[in-house]
Amino acid sequence: MCLNAKDRNGRLRFSARVSKPMKRNRNNSVLFFIFIIGRSFLSYAMAYLIFLIILFSPLHTMAMDAHHTKRVVDGDTLLLDNDQFVRYIGINAPEVQHGNRQTEPFGTEAKNYNARLVKNREIYLVYDQETADRHGRELAYVYTRENIFINQMMLEQGWAYCLYKPPNLRFHALFLKAQRLAMQCQRGMWNGWDIQTLKLFANKRSRRFHREPCPFGVQIKRSNRILFSSLWEAFWEGYAPCKKCFPDGIFAAKED
Ligand SMILES: [Zn+2]
Repeated sequence: MCLNAKDRNGRLRFSARVSKPMKRNRNNSVLFFIFIIGRSFLSYAMAYLIFLIILFSPLHTMAMDAHHTKRVVDGDTLLLDNDQFVRYIGINAPEVQHGNRQTEPFGTEAKNYNARLVKNREIYLVYDQETADRHGRELAYVYTRENIFINQMMLEQGWAYCLYKPPNLRFHALFLKAQRLAMQCQRGMWNGWDIQTLKLFANKRSRRFHREPCPFGVQIKRSNRILFSSLWEAFWEGYAPCKKCFPDGIFAAKED
């Protein structure tokens, strides 16, 4: 007690209570020891956490080569300066004219928007389980040096829709969220979308939808089958159109 008690001259004096230095020192030593151990543990925990963040961040591959775009093919494909085609994972954009195929509605807009994002910028590729498709194109998540995630941006601005394709599903949840945002805000090709009734058969496993009388739609096992009543609903749930029964894209179907 009275640690700060002062004597008559105003000087600090110590009472008899202070005369227990041994115990106090021992307590302090224990506390100090706990503090040191705790601090080391925290340092290790922090270092480990940072290591995990770097390991699982898509940008840890930033050490990879930077590329430049030679040509933008459409809203989901580009040609790199090393003449390698890159197909963006997890998305599909309306087609532009190639071979006998005509440009689909919004195909040009999607291509132009993609070009705005990647042209004259350093870009980096991040891979998922499969690194190439059967056409020899690299399958990648594409980032710019400014950390713009192109796959996500195409969806978020409404110039592409989600394409569920196992096993490359690392960002599927993020992509569906981006697409739903675009749909809600009626951006890009979702702008002024007229929700018409259209009976669609979909496969829960492949997440593709079909319309009558597509044979692929009829073949879906009952346990995998799900029905949608509009294109909007099917897209909202993250399903993509079958190429056989939507040969000219979804917008031709919309006008039926
Ligand atoms: Zn079909």
